[in-house]
Amino acid sequence: MRIYNTQRRILVTGGAGFLGSHLCERLLAQGHDVLCVDNFFTGTRRNVEHLLANPHFELMRHDVTMPLYVEVDQIYNLACPASPVHYQHDPVQTTKTSVHGAINMLGLAKRVRARILQASTSEVYGDPDVHPQPESYWGKVNPIGIRSCYDEGKRCAETLFFDYHRQHRVDIRVARIFNTYGPRMHPRDGRVVSNFIVQALRGDPITIYGEGQQTRSFCYVDDLVEGLNRFMEADPGAPGPVNIGNPVEFTVRELATLVIRLTGSSSKLAFAPLPSDDPMQRRPDVGLAKQMFGWQPSVQLEEGLRRTIEYFDGLLSAGELSPAQRAETREGAAVPASAKGITVHARFDA
Ligand code: NAD
Ligand code: UDP
Ligand code: UDP
Repeated sequence: MRIYNTQRRILVTGGAGFLGSHLCERLLAQGHDVLCVDNFFTGTRRNVEHLLANPHFELMRHDVTMPLYVEVDQIYNLACPASPVHYQHDPVQTTKTSVHGAINMLGLAKRVRARILQASTSEVYGDPDVHPQPESYWGKVNPIGIRSCYDEGKRCAETLFFDYHRQHRVDIRVARIFNTYGPRMHPRDGRVVSNFIVQALRGDPITIYGEGQQTRSFCYVDDLVEGLNRFMEADPGAPGPVNIGNPVEFTVRELATLVIRLTGSSSKLAFAPLPSDDPMQRRPDVGLAKQMFGWQPSVQLEEGLRRTIEYFDGLLSAGELSPAQRAETREGAAVPASAKGITVHARFDA
């Protein structure tokens, strides 16, 4: 395996989001020119504010469901809301973002002969009955449920990637990302790590859905971005799909206990119903990533949580976690009043 590294023009869609902003940072540090495209639905200018003065960085407000004509060498296609609270807010737009977005970015990659990486997801495995999940598993996905806009949208995007590859010889990489956490997660995005940390820091009840016996495997953002970058740069490479995630599995209840311990919080546990189609277990088999491009995660959950807690603590101290920015929970407040009636181009919580 050889990792090559010459200066390139790289497009990152969804670049103002949680993962995208870390990826832009990393690519700039490697000396590339980065074009960050985002419609600011869940991402913010603020996530990339520290990059704006860099002459190698350009930020463009654009929705990937519309065609985009630019000249680039590589594309990381990350544009898509990732948290259930966000992707269920406007499910039709979620599917359009995955499907029309993939078509447009693949059309662009085909025209300019760029290599293109798709941020796919462990959700393509649905509520899996094979455990841990290898890439060869086809998944168990409900096509008509409340998670389907995201799961099936991503599955269709994978199909488009492989058909553009077979039919048009587009150079593709499909990465299946498992639950990832870290600084710059949206404080109200409703995901379990951000919810628990915000709740613990505020002394609010920790909202456990179901009994908390469902499992997830949490990958720290720096490990994840390193994995995406290695996959893109590996030469000789292969389309994948390749799982990228941390294979150490925790129950949601164990996560709650750990967050309470690390924050020293007096928060109590509060139980709420399990949302429908919520997968009971999830853990990646990451053997292929190791074999193909020598990647495996190195940040343990406890260390990653400490760094993430520090980030949210900073927001809290700066007065940026006001009562209006309590953690979003799926049972009551899936759509905050301030977001009702917004257009698909507006920010989620503008
Ligand atoms: P995020 O919500 O922070 O980032 C998504 C970004 O895409 C945001 O900046 C948002 O404004 C932008 N976006 C959404 N729709 C768009 C559109 N139509 N046009 C242009 N921009 C648009 O989420 P994230 O956690 O950073 O996820 C990034 C990608 O990784 C997503 O594709 C997601 O599905 C995938 N992924 C993430 C995880 C995870 O645990 N974070 C897990 C699996 C897959
Ligand atoms: N497209 C784009 N940028 C480009 C080239 C194409 O956004 O530089 C979009 C365009 O909207 C097109 C889609 O990608 O509809 C698919 O392109 P493709 O060439 O596969 O198909 P066609 O142009 O025949 O629809
Ligand atoms: N979850 C929870 N409390 C919360 C938020 C989430 O118990 O406040 C649970 C959720 O039901 C799921 C797990 O935590 O079983 C992970 O949820 P998340 O939304 O972070 O990711 P995903 O379900 O997409 O893997």
